[in-house]
Amino acid sequence: MAHQEEQGGADLDLSSLQLNSAGPSNTILDDPIPSIITLNVGGRHFRTYKSTLQDAGYFAPYLEGRWEWPKEKDGSFFCDADPDIFAHVLRYLRRPSGYPLFWTKANGFDYDLYHRLEGAAIDFQIKDLENWIKNKTYLKAITMEATTSARKVGTYWPKGEVKQSGDVNIDCIVVPRTEKVYVCPRDMPAHRGRPEGCSHACHKVRNGGPHRYEDQAYNEVSTICKAYFVDKKWCMREL
Ligand SMILES: [Zn+2]
Repeated sequence: MAHQEEQGGADLDLSSLQLNSAGPSNTILDDPIPSIITLNVGGRHFRTYKSTLQDAGYFAPYLEGRWEWPKEKDGSFFCDADPDIFAHVLRYLRRPSGYPLFWTKANGFDYDLYHRLEGAAIDFQIKDLENWIKNKTYLKAITMEATTSARKVGTYWPKGEVKQSGDVNIDCIVVPRTEKVYVCPRDMPAHRGRPEGCSHACHKVRNGGPHRYEDQAYNEVSTICKAYFVDKKWCMREL
């Protein structure tokens, strides 16, 4: 209905324009919202199609001509919002099939950015984006699998054990430990830790007494391997 009324209005203006075709008075023509629109958002300019903005309820009364949208001197339409966040809003409106994944392996999720974008989704009345963030659906897009293992590395301090490749993080923790070690009654280094290495001569020195053990230090490396998986299907919107 409203669309038809608009059409009728345009026809009337056109006929009056034809009557005054010689004069410069065609600027009287009620300026409709152009199909390509320049927004001045908090001082930064964004150019986009009028149709791109139609999914945001905030713009509807302006685009439909119900509310007057004052133009800036340069012809842009002013909108009082944070341009950094609006850039994400506009990116979503341009590709409404995909929700934004603000995640990096190094820093995890950018909760602050999600929070601010949720606020903008409320302000600009983009209900599905608002709900997607509110429901924290983005958390499902990232899964992490951790495997741990520990191994003995003797007394040296392993170097270069922390690696990164692809979406896998490998963290190593070196834990100093001690263990009981068999000591030869004759202190033969070759028999240390090896009771079976001791000969009759060794046992003779022990002379029926108890076996000797000493505390010996060693290092254990605990390896934590974290593999990250990104499942973009949780960022897709079925249109
Ligand atoms: Zn021995």
